[in-house]
Amino acid sequence: MVSDKGLLIVLSGPSGVGKGTVRKAIFDHPETNFKYSISMTTRDKREGEVDGVDYFFKSKEEFETLIEQDKFIEYAKYVGNYYGTPVDYVKDTIAEGHDVFLEIEVEGAKQVREKFPDALFIFLAPPTLAQLEERLIGRGTDSKEVIDYRISEAKRELNMMNLYDYVVINDDVETARERVQCIVEASHLERSRV
Ligand code: 5GP
Repeated sequence: MVSDKGLLIVLSGPSGVGKGTVRKAIFDHPETNFKYSISMTTRDKREGEVDGVDYFFKSKEEFETLIEQDKFIEYAKYVGNYYGTPVDYVKDTIAEGHDVFLEIEVEGAKQVREKFPDALFIFLAPPTLAQLEERLIGRGTDSKEVIDYRISEAKRELNMMNLYDYVVINDDVETARERVQCIVEASHLERSRV
């Protein structure tokens, strides 16, 4: 039976692996016809970010009210801030027949797995742990303690790889983008045969 519903695509992976960069490459590509689910967050807006484009920026109180109202498919705390996927947008857009793309950290992806077992789960992995460590160290002026914490978290997140349908190695952004798009196409074909 061919479903006229869209596919929910979840791209996740450890901190520092380059999920955001791969996501941007996907949405900058002319052949992409997925809809991006804009997340809500309580973190401060960074320079150049636009409310309603990069995120919906919320206060902690607003976010917690939305949690109470069950307005998220998933939410997680990451480095002291909340991040969550709004339920209405995802459900409505899938029902309209569009594919919806989430780029989220691993705890949130685990929650989506429980609620949407039919979603497509793609784990973005670094070519080596050493490269991931280099990226986490090179990110800024963090203390050694913070860097060590990030590295141990990244190792824990890497261990969650086996919960995913596919693993894409991010050795090159353009290649990773192509791999993700091939996986989505293959998944549509496979599902249309069921
Ligand atoms: P950043 O603050 O750098 O934009 O994002 C930090 C982390 O939060 C990234 O790993 C990103 O994938 C993740 N993230 C962004 N939106 C969501 C969301 O809606 N839910 C969850 N669980 N993680 C998110």
